[in-house]
Amino acid sequence: MMDAPAKAKKRPVSALLRNHDGVLTQEIVLRPGEFGLGKVPARLKPDATTTVVCGFCSTGCGLNVHLKDGQAINLTPTTDYPVNLGMACPKGWEAITPLHSPDRATTPLLRNEKGELEPVDWDTAMQVFTVRFKAIQDQFGKDSVAWIGTGQICTEELAFLGALGKFGMGMIHGDGNTRQCMATAVTAYKQSFGFDAPPFTYADFEQSDVIVLVGSNLCIAHPIMWQRVLRNRNNPEIIVVDPRKTETAMAATQHYAIAPKSDLKLLYGLAHILIERGWIKREYIDAHTNGFEEFAGFVKSFTPETVAPECGLSVEQLLRFVETIHRGQRVSFWWTMGVNQGHEATRTAQAIINLALMTGNIGRPGTGANSITGQCNAMGSRLFSNTTNLLGGHDFLNVIHREKVAALLGIEAAAIPNQNSWAYDQIVQGIDDGRIKGLWVIATNSSHSWIHQSRFAEILKKLDFLVVQDMYHTTETAREAHLVLPAGAWGEKEGTFINSERRFGLVKKISKAPGQSLSDFNIFKLVAHYWGCGGMFKDWTSPEAVFQILKNLSRNQPCDITGIRDYQMLDECGGVQWPLRAEVRGEKSDVRGAESSLPTSDLSPLTSNERRLFEDGCYFHPDGRAKFIFEVPREAPEVTDAEYPLLLLTGRGTSAQWHTQTRTSKSGVLRQLYPEKIYVEINPRDASRLGIRPQQMVEVRSRRGKLLARAFVTGTVQPGHIFIPMHYEETNRLTYPSFDPYSRQPSYKACAVAVAALKKA
Ligand code: SF4
Repeated sequence: MMDAPAKAKKRPVSALLRNHDGVLTQEIVLRPGEFGLGKVPARLKPDATTTVVCGFCSTGCGLNVHLKDGQAINLTPTTDYPVNLGMACPKGWEAITPLHSPDRATTPLLRNEKGELEPVDWDTAMQVFTVRFKAIQDQFGKDSVAWIGTGQICTEELAFLGALGKFGMGMIHGDGNTRQCMATAVTAYKQSFGFDAPPFTYADFEQSDVIVLVGSNLCIAHPIMWQRVLRNRNNPEIIVVDPRKTETAMAATQHYAIAPKSDLKLLYGLAHILIERGWIKREYIDAHTNGFEEFAGFVKSFTPETVAPECGLSVEQLLRFVETIHRGQRVSFWWTMGVNQGHEATRTAQAIINLALMTGNIGRPGTGANSITGQCNAMGSRLFSNTTNLLGGHDFLNVIHREKVAALLGIEAAAIPNQNSWAYDQIVQGIDDGRIKGLWVIATNSSHSWIHQSRFAEILKKLDFLVVQDMYHTTETAREAHLVLPAGAWGEKEGTFINSERRFGLVKKISKAPGQSLSDFNIFKLVAHYWGCGGMFKDWTSPEAVFQILKNLSRNQPCDITGIRDYQMLDECGGVQWPLRAEVRGEKSDVRGAESSLPTSDLSPLTSNERRLFEDGCYFHPDGRAKFIFEVPREAPEVTDAEYPLLLLTGRGTSAQWHTQTRTSKSGVLRQLYPEKIYVEINPRDASRLGIRPQQMVEVRSRRGKLLARAFVTGTVQPGHIFIPMHYEETNRLTYPSFDPYSRQPSYKACAVAVAALKKA
């Protein structure tokens, strides 16, 4: 018998190369993961799982997070969450990775005398925060300090920030980055319906027989919503209105590549033909709307012969478009940034709403005038951030609303401003004019994302004190701050998000915030304490306690959520769409359908967990009617000329990129899915005329700045246009600062530029 060493000597060489129980092999060996996960690598075997809502976009997908020792180690999409039904886009799959980036802000940072940011403790940070902001307010007035918030933090945190800022610290002006994406939809809905009320449910994507997408690249911007379209079994006509041949346009059955910013004329032209041919729902119009006769008179001049050439389409194309709408039994109209970010955006959104109203395509399955939101909690910001409206969709200008909110919060009504906040651009202008001296920026990267970037950078330098509260200390805005407050991120705290279809979803703590960073909620508590107004927020003890306060604030509002018992109910139901009133809870029905295990006492009157508004034709104006709103189209603020002969379009690049890439750039997986460096899409005809070869470096200039980018020669953009994704730091050097007059949303989508080839490739 051989001894052991002798045996080892006899091992074949291949065994040295393939060591089946070595460390590397163990990394990839699959073992039963339990929790319904099938097999997973042993190192990723969880000891528990929990569900959370994704923290990137407004789709609001449910994710199953795999936990080991209470920390997130992996995730999979939740199969029975009514939003995503087991699907997730690349960002969702990679949601945990950005939490572990080495550039997380782990301690407060204060700019020292040498101009460098240096670590300080929370006590010092809060002392400085309070002393500096109070000194500014004492010298220049309460309204000389403002904040810019976000649609990325939880609803309860947004409410805390808004209440603290206005009721506790005495600020008048606070706005959010939602101004950059959703302000137009808010204004359009408020004016047309009487409340900011997106009427749809995602099931409508599956129930339509005609889906009209205006200025929406759904495949890229909202990939899971696009998957819902693909589940539609009605063989729907999919109409895309977009100057670019986007991924969505390529998948459409009809693509109308209109001239940029001709959408309002197109929509009026469609209305004209529908009315002229009698293809309208007269009964619905008469019963549920106001202003139709005036509107019908107004669109008379938008004949196909005048509209078609201005939109870059043929009369036949217009007629085909209208006939498709007319033939549809369930037509849904959807829009997003291509509409919202325009110089006449509100009227354009309302022109879409008008089409839905006049054809009776609203309040029924598969219909609606439907704005798709951007950020994970844009809707939370819209309803509860205390910026554009008083908490819960109330009105700062209405004394009864102020007294109601004050009574519910146990504060003096006098603590509530009786004036509206300035919008984002007006706050920026206020800094420029010297009226705003202190700014608190929370979870947004304005130095990257704000329009006309170089001007913004100059203006920011005028501030006496800039505080940036963020999960990273490396954002373009944080690098400019006097004080950085390190914030916990999605996944490191709890609260709720409200998605595009008005669904409250639950966010949970699945990972520990690094270093000394605190959840935004706890930072606000700390600020309240140091500011001396902690007593005002004595009941705001936890996110769930604030959720209960928000429930009370929502009572009898269109967004009434008094029927949502608590976080546990949200978790068990797969989220709940607003409204859900307390009075109707307990009646027989089930929010989740037959599979729900909710006790009878928790049943709501919902026959399914997908619900739409206006099924009764009753809108939120005092007379219960929707309004037709319209206006003569205006010229685009900046048009091309001999010096700047091309039109720049901006938008999303890939489904793996998110806004300013603050988080998505932290994932090695996501970085593989998009070009690292900025690129510009240019039509082959323009490229040839300008002597630009594919992949050649080019200079793109506007009247405001310039950038270098690699040329991507492609027919997806029309001759005369170029496209640059919004995600790159340089893009907003070029954009022109114009704003919709009603929503004050920036018009990012069209400005005049020139492109020239660089000599060296
Ligand atoms: Fe998250 Fe939006 Fe992707 Fe869904 S579609 S996984 S919510 S980023």
